[in-house]
Amino acid sequence: MQTTPDPVLPGRLVAPEPGWVTRSDVVVVGSGIAGLTAALRIDAALRARTDDDGATVLVVTKDVLNAGSTQWAQGGIAAALGPGDTPGQHEHDTLVAGAGACDLDAVRALVNEGPAAVQELIALGTNFDHHDGVLSLTREGGHHRDRIAHAGGDATGAEIQRALIAAVEAAPPSRSSSTHLRSTCCAPSTVRWPA
Ligand SMILES: Cc1cc2nc3c(=O)[nH]c(=O)nc-3n(C[C@H](O)[C@H](O)[C@H](O)COP(=O)(O)OP(=O)(O)OC[C@H]3O[C@@H](n4cnc5c(N)ncnc54)[C@H](O)[C@@H]3O)c2cc1C
Repeated sequence: MQTTPDPVLPGRLVAPEPGWVTRSDVVVVGSGIAGLTAALRIDAALRARTDDDGATVLVVTKDVLNAGSTQWAQGGIAAALGPGDTPGQHEHDTLVAGAGACDLDAVRALVNEGPAAVQELIALGTNFDHHDGVLSLTREGGHHRDRIAHAGGDATGAEIQRALIAAVEAAPPSRSSSTHLRSTCCAPSTVRWPA
């Protein structure tokens, strides 16, 4: 009887040689809403330091800057921004809708930090939908208040991604502090894993 030999498994995986090499004090991996927000916040904190030593921030992403989930988010962002609304009410609605599946700490971070995060996105240049100069908020499943902010109707994520990329690209490559942001989409090659 013929037997099939056992497959030989590699003892370790060998990464390909890097396509390019650079140095940076902070590396942020990913260029969606999380990565670009983190990069912009770190950049701002570095620039505000009085003992500025020219520290740099580098955003590394596996594809073009807008290739992640963020640009596809369509349903808007929920935050307790409307009249009479509070993070406590948002927390209650979230826990009821979550039916026991929620991480309470995560929910509390979301509802308490959400309003300021939306305002931060607006300050960065995100064009959320407004009516008569007031932020438009819709009421959607599970929410007992008008609390969903949209941009361009159902193009919320695309508008947020656009605004964040614009904010990163508008960060001057060097000020007196010489802090700067770089994205791999502007570099000669990109980091891809798996290749
Ligand atoms: C169709 C759709 C609709 C959605 N609708 C909503 C909504 O209405 N409201 C809402 O709040 N949320 C919605 N979401 C969820 C929301 O889009 C995500 O929660 C959010 O965008 C996550 O942001 P992020 O920055 O963590 O991830 P992403 O935007 O996905 O960014 C991840 C980044 O990491 C990079 N990356 C991944 N792997 C590697 C690697 N190995 N090396 C280097 N870089 C890597 C990617 O290229 C990308 O730049 C929706 C998502 C989808 C897909």
